[in-house]
Amino acid sequence: MNADPSNKEWKFSEILADHEIRARWEKVRRYFFLRESTYDMANRCNIRCEGCYYYKGDKQSARENNDPTAWHDLMRAEKARGITYVVLAGAEPSLVPELCEACFQEMPLGTIATNGLKFIPASINYKIHISVWGNDATSFDIRNAKNMLRRQIENYKGDPRAVFVYTFTRNNIDQAREVSGILAEQGCRLTFNMFSAPEGYEGPLRHSAASLDYTRRTMIELLKAYPGEVFFSHYNAVAHTHRSSLHELYSCSYPRMNPSTDIGLGRSFRQYRTDLSWNREVACCVPDTDCVDCRHYASGSAVVTARLFRHATDPDTFKAWLDYVDTYLAVWVMGYEKGDNLCNQLVAPPGHEVF
Ligand code: SF4
Ligand code: SF4
Repeated sequence: MNADPSNKEWKFSEILADHEIRARWEKVRRYFFLRESTYDMANRCNIRCEGCYYYKGDKQSARENNDPTAWHDLMRAEKARGITYVVLAGAEPSLVPELCEACFQEMPLGTIATNGLKFIPASINYKIHISVWGNDATSFDIRNAKNMLRRQIENYKGDPRAVFVYTFTRNNIDQAREVSGILAEQGCRLTFNMFSAPEGYEGPLRHSAASLDYTRRTMIELLKAYPGEVFFSHYNAVAHTHRSSLHELYSCSYPRMNPSTDIGLGRSFRQYRTDLSWNREVACCVPDTDCVDCRHYASGSAVVTARLFRHATDPDTFKAWLDYVDTYLAVWVMGYEKGDNLCNQLVAPPGHEVF
């Protein structure tokens, strides 16, 4: 679907003739070398959250390999096969800082996904994504952790690595205003995620059509209220709150949903368990998440950004995609600074309606 009402058939060179578009294109395409894989660092966590996808499926029973030398060796082997970017994740990587340090010494670009309750040493210069699931009353209720936001801010206020990731569930949409206000006041940067149900989960956090719509309006309201602190765009809001999942909108390219081993993520992506084993058939950035409900920010960061050509149909659609990529890089890459969004209206994903 072409967002240009004239239905003109645009050539890519015509789209790039716009100075603003070309400048942003040149800025983001310098990062097209990034090739990610993800790594479970520990099978332990210091809290237990409702709806955690780590404790679904059999990855939770992999033993931990706590030998830093083995992680050094793994990272060298990963580099040799073309991986340039690592995501260190769950259960809770902050419990094994020496393993995170081993990864960082070999692979300089990456992100650690953490609940933020234990500080990760500053020498590990990865992006740090701190998960926030609502205000402190809600966190106590569904994560069983007291004063969570206050403790997270104490650990990471002023830390250039830190991005707070507010996960919208069906029940915490209103609280995003309160939490965003607190974070912005403290100078903390944040972005938004969507609760994406683990396979078999039918609990109260799963989104409905009404909660998707309300979340979209709230995201855009907060994006306007805190433009300096909120890393997001109108198109991020569309992609992640659409009635259709990311897979339906963009065709997920992770191996679990993509049998092709020829190109891109389907070829290079691996999801390592804590014992350093991996299994192509279940590999994606959020394993054991239900693909029908997948709106996860990590998934979109790979799946939407990979769809360059689908968005090169007209200037507005391409601007929307550039905003998405600019947001993704600001959230995931140390030193990348987000620009002003180019497209401040709702643009439909190619081939779909806007809702
Ligand atoms: S903090 Fe993360 S890994 Fe730990 S239980 Fe919660 S969602 Fe799972
Ligand atoms: S859960 Fe999401 S990222 Fe994983 S395979 Fe399914 S659609 Fe892709």
